[in-house]
Amino acid sequence: MKFSEMPYQRVDFEELKKSFETLTKGFENASSGEEQFEVHKTLYDLIKDTITNSTLAQIRHNIDMTDEFYTAESDYYDENDPILTSLLVEYQKKFYHSKFRPYLEEKVGHVAFKNMELSMKSIDDKILPLMQEENKLSSQYDKLIASAEIDWHGEVLNLSLLTPYLTNADRAIRIEAWKKYTDFFSANKEALDDIYDKLVKNRTEQAMQLGYENYLPLGYNRMNRNCYGQKEIKSFREQIKRDFVPFAAKLHDRRRKRLGLTALHFEDEGVYFKNGNPNPIGTPAEIMEAGRKMYSELSPETKTFMDFMCDNELFDVLGRKTKKAGGYMTELPKYKAPFVFANFNGTAGDVDVMTHECGHAFQGFLMFDDPILEHSYITMDSAETHSMSMEFFTEPWMKLFFGEREKDYIDMHLESCAAFLPYGTMVDEFQHIMYENPGLSPKARNEAWRDLERQYKPHLDYSGNPYLEQGGFWQKQLHIYNSPLYYIDYCLAQTNAFQYKGWMDRDYKAAWESYLSFCKLGAKEFFTDINKLCGLRSPFEEGSIKAIVSELEKVGL
Ligand code: ZN
Repeated sequence: MKFSEMPYQRVDFEELKKSFETLTKGFENASSGEEQFEVHKTLYDLIKDTITNSTLAQIRHNIDMTDEFYTAESDYYDENDPILTSLLVEYQKKFYHSKFRPYLEEKVGHVAFKNMELSMKSIDDKILPLMQEENKLSSQYDKLIASAEIDWHGEVLNLSLLTPYLTNADRAIRIEAWKKYTDFFSANKEALDDIYDKLVKNRTEQAMQLGYENYLPLGYNRMNRNCYGQKEIKSFREQIKRDFVPFAAKLHDRRRKRLGLTALHFEDEGVYFKNGNPNPIGTPAEIMEAGRKMYSELSPETKTFMDFMCDNELFDVLGRKTKKAGGYMTELPKYKAPFVFANFNGTAGDVDVMTHECGHAFQGFLMFDDPILEHSYITMDSAETHSMSMEFFTEPWMKLFFGEREKDYIDMHLESCAAFLPYGTMVDEFQHIMYENPGLSPKARNEAWRDLERQYKPHLDYSGNPYLEQGGFWQKQLHIYNSPLYYIDYCLAQTNAFQYKGWMDRDYKAAWESYLSFCKLGAKEFFTDINKLCGLRSPFEEGSIKAIVSELEKVGL
């Protein structure tokens, strides 16, 4: 069904409560596992209906923020969505403790049960006031960042509009932009320190009240870390430091030479070419057309997916004044339809929509035929493997998007992925230090960050910028404030994507077949088991990062 023809109906939450009551009663009265599972399947339709309606309202509000009807509908869900969450939590308890659990577990899978266990360990009524306060602190951070009004030659810019100037091809412009950018953070340093201090202490208190020794194990449960723990992540970080950082340094040096600089300064991060980073050629319509051609040639599965997306108006990617900023991929499960929302702006980011976001959408599309809804409840490490690997699988078609600068794009892509991996891992180690030592002073926090930068990004030269020299860079990283412990997922996914990159250079077809089964497994198995089943090495296993580096050295240098 075309997006414009999808009927919308406001979810009646009173009705929904009644449906859950009926469902729960049916579940409790069932006299066998088979009967319970039949009842459980009616929950799937209830969830799909509810989510489809609320997502329709959200998308239609985002594509035209002046539309009064959908603005009101979207507000309605912001207010009422927690009702669905709490109905689900209550139902889940009954499901988890069913006396027919072995049968149910055989049906929905062991991963689903593990996830239920983790979610029950993550929440309790007694910490609700603390969780509300945590949300308020997070919004304070968002508001402070959004409040930036930076004078740029007479024009007032917020931080996101200033961002493109940070990587401007003209070095003098980016030096000026970085100065203004960090001046904002430096001027707000105390407020930023204060918000973070309260967040760390709040989360620690939540953990204490639930009986944990600090926030880390609680945070792991909340991130659904269902198959690895702190020990495994530590081993991953050690390998990145020892085996990957020297490789990233080589790529930074290759970039330095290309830029014709004697030394890389922090203002040169994210800059790849003297004549500027490559941008896609052609109009947005031509980029979409190139995307369609690419996926129709890549595989029969991606062709079916892309035809479905295009024929059913499931992209809204043109930048418009009345549209919400940013981009995302979401799903309308009732119509088995992914939806990609973006604002094309003429940079390589537009192509990421065609590769990265479409990787997410393609995987979602494949899962709609799985009769078990729990199989689509994927963790972020898997989700980002789907998207980051697709960025590499689509590389043979980059000529369609970048023309003569195809190779520039491919070099930039590899170098930016390689630069990201140590950074992302460092963000994770920083947070571990913070939650293990919740009493640290602002100065000690900055010192810890600066110390990590010396280990993970030894090429960085901050001279001349006291705010960054003193270790303030982390305050710009939204995740550190608002999505604790969410970042290592990108790094684990990046190592999987790198493994696919090496594999596809040896045997594209075999790598693609493995990727397809990785996608189709969804959350049927644990992340670590999916890796094994698909012929990828576990990123936690000693030697795995070294192996990735030696593959990349063959193809990338
Ligand atoms: Zn993503």
